[in-house]
Formats: sequence, C-alpha cells, structure tokens
Amino acid sequence: MIHFRHIGHRLLASVGGVIILGIVAITITYATRQETASLRQNEHALGMVSDSVTEGLSALMLGRHSKAAPDFATRLGNVPNVTDYRIIRLDGTQAFIDDLTLQQVRKRIDSFEFYPRRADPVQVVPAADPALERMRTTGKRIFHYHVKPGGERLVTVFSPIPSAKKCGECHDPRESLRGAVTFTVSMKEIDSNVAQTWQLSVLVIASALFGMVSLIYWFAHRTVSSQLTGFLAAMDAVAAGDNSLRLSATRRDEIGDMGRSFNHMNENLLESYMKLEEERTKLNTVIFSAGTGIVVTDGAQHVVLVNRAAEEIIGRTSQEIVERGFRQLFDDPEWIEARLGSEHAQSAAGILNWKDKVLSVSASTIRDGGGQAIGSAALIRDITEEKRLEQLLKEQSITDTLTGIFNRRHFDDVLLTEFKRWKRYGQPFSVMMIDVDHFKKFNDTHGHDCGDHVLAAIGRVLEELSAPAQIPCRYGGEEMIIVMPGVVEQGGADLAEAIRLGISKLEVDGLKVTVSIGVAGLPGHAVDDADALVKIADEALYVAKEAGRNRVCLAKRG
Ligand code: GH3
Ligand code: MG
Ligand code: MG
Repeated sequence: MIHFRHIGHRLLASVGGVIILGIVAITITYATRQETASLRQNEHALGMVSDSVTEGLSALMLGRHSKAAPDFATRLGNVPNVTDYRIIRLDGTQAFIDDLTLQQVRKRIDSFEFYPRRADPVQVVPAADPALERMRTTGKRIFHYHVKPGGERLVTVFSPIPSAKKCGECHDPRESLRGAVTFTVSMKEIDSNVAQTWQLSVLVIASALFGMVSLIYWFAHRTVSSQLTGFLAAMDAVAAGDNSLRLSATRRDEIGDMGRSFNHMNENLLESYMKLEEERTKLNTVIFSAGTGIVVTDGAQHVVLVNRAAEEIIGRTSQEIVERGFRQLFDDPEWIEARLGSEHAQSAAGILNWKDKVLSVSASTIRDGGGQAIGSAALIRDITEEKRLEQLLKEQSITDTLTGIFNRRHFDDVLLTEFKRWKRYGQPFSVMMIDVDHFKKFNDTHGHDCGDHVLAAIGRVLEELSAPAQIPCRYGGEEMIIVMPGVVEQGGADLAEAIRLGISKLEVDGLKVTVSIGVAGLPGHAVDDADALVKIADEALYVAKEAGRNRVCLAKRG
C-alpha cells in the first residue's frame, strides 16, 4: 500500500488514476476495433478475390469450356504475393490435374471427350483439415489464420464453390458444393498496420497520461497543496510564538474559509497572549516590589524566581540563592524539607531566627490541577520589628510607668502562680508590703510631682536590692509589694530590712522618706488563698505603722 505524504499527490493518484483508466479503456477499445475492422476488411477483399475466381471458373465450366479450366487453375499459381492459389476438391486434392473427376463425369455422360492426365491425385490439404471440414459442413468461406516458422502470420482462405443447377448435367446433382478455391496470403502488411495502430494508441495514452498528470498536478498544487503548505508554515510560525502571520482569505471556497478561521484564531490567540502578558507584568511588579520575600522553584527544585525582598531578608544575592538551591535557603535543609515533605499539608509556616533577624517562613509545594507537584515556593517575612514591638507591648502591659517595676496585674498573676506552686510542691515564698510613711503630708508639703519622683526612686531601689528571681510590684498608690519565691518569712524580713535601710538613705530633691514594711511567708500561716497571705502582710505593715513607722514587722503567727 502506497502512502502519499502530500494531498496533491493523493489527488493526482486518485483522479489521475480514474482518468487514465478511462483513457486506456477507450484507447484499447478503439485499437481493438481498428484491428478487427482491418481484419474484416482484409477478409472482405480476400472474399472478393476468391469470389471472382469462383465466378470465372463457373463461367468457364457452365459455358462448357471445361478444357480451359485446368489452364485457368494453373495460372492462379502465378498471382504474386499469393501462395498455394489452387482449386481443390472437397477432399483436399487438387482439381483439374488428374482424371478422377473426368472419369466420374464420363460415367454419367459417355460422349464426354477425354484427355488422359496424371492418374494419381495431388493432396493439397489433408481431407480431415479442420478448416476444410468447417467449410464443408457450413458451406461458408473459412479464413484459417496460422503462423509460419519464421513468425510471419498467414491466412489461408477456403472459399466454397457452390454447385449450380446446371452443374448437375455433368456432375452429381446432389452435391451442394463443387469444390473450393484456396490460397494463402501473408498478414504482414495488415499486422504491420495493426501494430502501427497500437503504437499510435500507446502514444496517445502516454501523451494523455502526461497531459492529465501535469494538469491535475498543476491544479492540485495551485488549489490545495500550495495553500496547505502556506497554512502549515503559518501554523509552525504560531507554534514558534510568531502570531504576526496572516493567511490570504480572498478565496470563497473551503481554503478561503480555512484562511479566515486561521486569521481569526491567530488574532484571538494574540489578544489572549497580550492579556496574559499584561497580567504577568502586573504579577511580576507585585512580586518584585512586595515586602514579603518570595522564592519559587520549578518541578526539579531549581530556583526560578527570587524577588528583591527575599535578597534583602536572606542577605544574599539572587544569584547566590539560585546557586545554593532552595533547600539551602537558610543553611538548614531539614527545616525546609520538614515543611515541604508532608503530602497532606500544602504549606507550613514557621518562625526562624536568621542572623540577627526573626523570620516568618511559609514554605509550600505548588501543585497543578491534577495534584502533581510542579514546584515549591517560600514566602519570607522579616518580623524582627513586629517581635520587638510585641515584646515591648508585653512588657508595658505588666510594667508600672511611674516606678518601672511590675504593675498590679502582674503581681496578681505572680502571686497566684507562687501560691499554686506552694500548694502543689510546698515551695515556700514570702511577700513584703511596703508603704511610704506620711506620704500624704509629703505630697502636701513638697508637691505631688516631688512625691512622684520619690516613688520612682523607691522603684529603682527595689529593683536594685531584690534578687533576679524576686518580683517587685506597685501594689497601688504609694504601696509596693515584693513577691519572693523560695524565700521563707525570716529571709523575707532580712531583705525587707535591707530595703528599708536603702530607702531611708535615699535623697530625692534633697528630701528623704522612710517606709514601713510588713512581711508574711509560707510556711508559717494557715491560709486558704493567696490574698489571705497578702492580708497578713498588710496587717504586719499596720503593726509597723503603729509601732512608730520606719521599721519591718513580721506577721503574727497564727
Ligand atoms: P501613713 O504613714 O499612715 O501611711 O500616712 P499616709 O499619709 O501615707 O497615709 P495614706 O497611706 O492614707 O496616704 C497615702 C497618700 O499617698 C495619699 C496620696 O496623696 C499619696 N499618693 C498615693 N498615690 C500617689 C502617687 O501616685 N503620687 C503621689 N505623689 N502621691 C500619691
Ligand atoms: Mg498607704
Ligand atoms: Mg503611707
């Protein structure tokens, strides 16, 4: 089976094939008819020749000039280009050269003159010759075609000589045929004519073939192939990203429709592409100017996008990031992999301390519509400042602004924590309640602002003198309290004494103040809640006040 790569060739083969078959058929029919006509014409001519001989012979015989018949028969042998031109009897023997027929005639007509001739007959054609036999049985002229040993075609004519009524006067009246005229003629000239006809036919076929093929090829090329080739070139250009090509759309057939559809498709493609490009530019602008660092990889984990923020946050150029690879983004491949590895979690964020910064990193696997991983992305935010502010806020929320020590809210939390610890583990802790002596009067005398300075100075003394584990807080007004984890009541009293002394030496704007301190600690008191312990310390403070102020008092044991 032949496969054609070009539509033009296929058209050529199919249409051309049909037309050629038609031409061949017509030509063969014509040539065959010509051949048959030539043969019929030849046979007709030969029939006329044999008829004229038969007529001549009949005229002689019926004119009772039978004596001249042998000479007539002999002369036939001299006719050029004709071989074996003879008059034969129905059994194939030659007539007029022996006495056989004469003897028969004499038997019927005694007075017939007799000229003795050769006695033995000459067998010209075998009696059983099929052509002769056919002539005998049909009574018609037979043309027997045969080939000479050299290849030349010959035709031997057996033309019957009918028996006329008058023949019966001398011969047997029952016989319908008297004999036959036979001769052989070469078919050379006829065959040569036929061969010429065939040659001419082949020439006609070849010319028609060439003409048709050229015509169809030209037509197919012009109407289909060249158009399709142009179409293919345009398609290739589109595939290569060139949308500028336009096909000719002037024709009003399917090719023209194809061109119009193509141009329309191309314009739509270009428009979509332009829109996409526009979106891409927007997206790129957003990505590259974003404050969040963005690093993206392809499916093979090669880094394909690093924005400016990522360079700044990581502290490396995009080239360095690309070279080091996605997993080495923060010199800790396992940290990244742990976030990308999970099949269920699409993304995972984490806080990372990187150099002197705190980063929030969200690493995720990018998947296509079918769930296939096509890359990874990391969104990196520098949250150092956020964290600092968060810490500051947290500190501020538990700090007293005037004194700089912890505020009441924080004291409540710490007190509860320590009380729980005491309850659960029996860990001792103490509190000391500090109150400035005659502070109302101090304010009245030196002013409220001056009083504030004193409170701030007392705060600093508390911070200085208390151990890191101890928590000084402003309880309210000019009262302060220190929570002392792990410190028993007596230890608390010792520290309270140091603090009382420290404050008594303090000089603010040339002025001095004193404090009274009440101390209470666990173990040592039967209390149900933490507030009860504070109340006990407060009572001790009251005792200190009552006892003349500027002193430390332990809670009464109960
Ligand atoms: P005592 O020795 O009995 O404690 O006498 P006191 O005058 O200190 O008596 P009290 O505790 O009743 O008075 C507290 C005073 O402390 C009242 C108020 O004017 C003053 N005070 C409370 N908070 C502040 C503050 O934030 N700044 C200033 N300057 N004064 C304060
Ligand atoms: Mg007070
Ligand atoms: Mg007071």
